[in-house]
Amino acid sequence: MAHVTRVFILCLMVPGLLGCARNQSSTKSGEETASARPAAMTETTPSSEALPADSTPPPHIDAAKAMDYVRQVVNFGPRYINSPGHKKAEQFLRAHLKGDDVEEDAFTMSTPAGNLPMVNFIAKFPGSQNGIVVLAGHYDTLYKRDDFVGANDAASDTGLLLEIADYLRAQKKRQGYTIWLVWLDGEEAIKQWSDTDSVYGARHLAEKWQKDGTAKNIKAFLLADMIGDKDLDIDRDQNSTPWLEDLVGQAATRLGYQSHFFQRLNAVEDDHLPFARIGVRVADLIDFSYGYNNVFWHSPQDTLDKLSPQSLQIVGDVMLETARLLPAHK
Ligand SMILES: [Zn+2]
Repeated sequence: MAHVTRVFILCLMVPGLLGCARNQSSTKSGEETASARPAAMTETTPSSEALPADSTPPPHIDAAKAMDYVRQVVNFGPRYINSPGHKKAEQFLRAHLKGDDVEEDAFTMSTPAGNLPMVNFIAKFPGSQNGIVVLAGHYDTLYKRDDFVGANDAASDTGLLLEIADYLRAQKKRQGYTIWLVWLDGEEAIKQWSDTDSVYGARHLAEKWQKDGTAKNIKAFLLADMIGDKDLDIDRDQNSTPWLEDLVGQAATRLGYQSHFFQRLNAVEDDHLPFARIGVRVADLIDFSYGYNNVFWHSPQDTLDKLSPQSLQIVGDVMLETARLLPAHK
């Protein structure tokens, strides 16, 4: 990830949090959105009495195994497009998803560095209900940055999604919606972040899903990005669908993880936006405060020692619980 237009401490959304004076711009390029779009926050929210559609126990992924996947991905080194590490990451995904229903979505995108080959991986785990919940992340790292291994951005979600695949695979005749796990390519800018130089894999896949009709079967698109930080605090994102963010908050509360969610309000540009633009309900689970003043973000200090297995667990469990709560609502 990604790009943030505005950061400020959220007060109204978090009962008991006092004071709301801090207001800080964290824009990379200097531009800023004037409006915080408060109207979007007043949309109907799901009932707090939501119950999962099935009686299975709450989700609980294997934190140590998720962390081990993250470690292995980091050890491939930088994983930008056309790098040896990217190839290793592709092979790693193929190997660990062998035997699953996997679609390799290979394509070429026009970029400031010319046409570049990319590939999204989509692993499909059927459920009992008609409809798809997408859990996604990106697996590329900063373009041509050989000093950057991207432990949090985004080996964290690459490894977490692999552990979620193991978790789903182990469930026979799973209740609820079909779950598609998506490892997106080309999230990072090739030259400088802009609408046309970012989220290449997501833009390609959203267009494809719009054309082939998949988009209208998607009940929710949940994105994970930068979710391994030991000091985990997932932002509430104004560019996500408000009621789906509420549902994420409910899922976190049901699992006892609410203290790690929504202390800050942000407007995040990330892989979810191309899907939001074609009418898919989206939520970006992102902690865009990585070290003091986000100092580790896109820096050579984005290394494994900053991450915690517990953070992977919290986000993985909350994504799965959100998917489980969905049928009660939409
Ligand atoms: Zn990034």
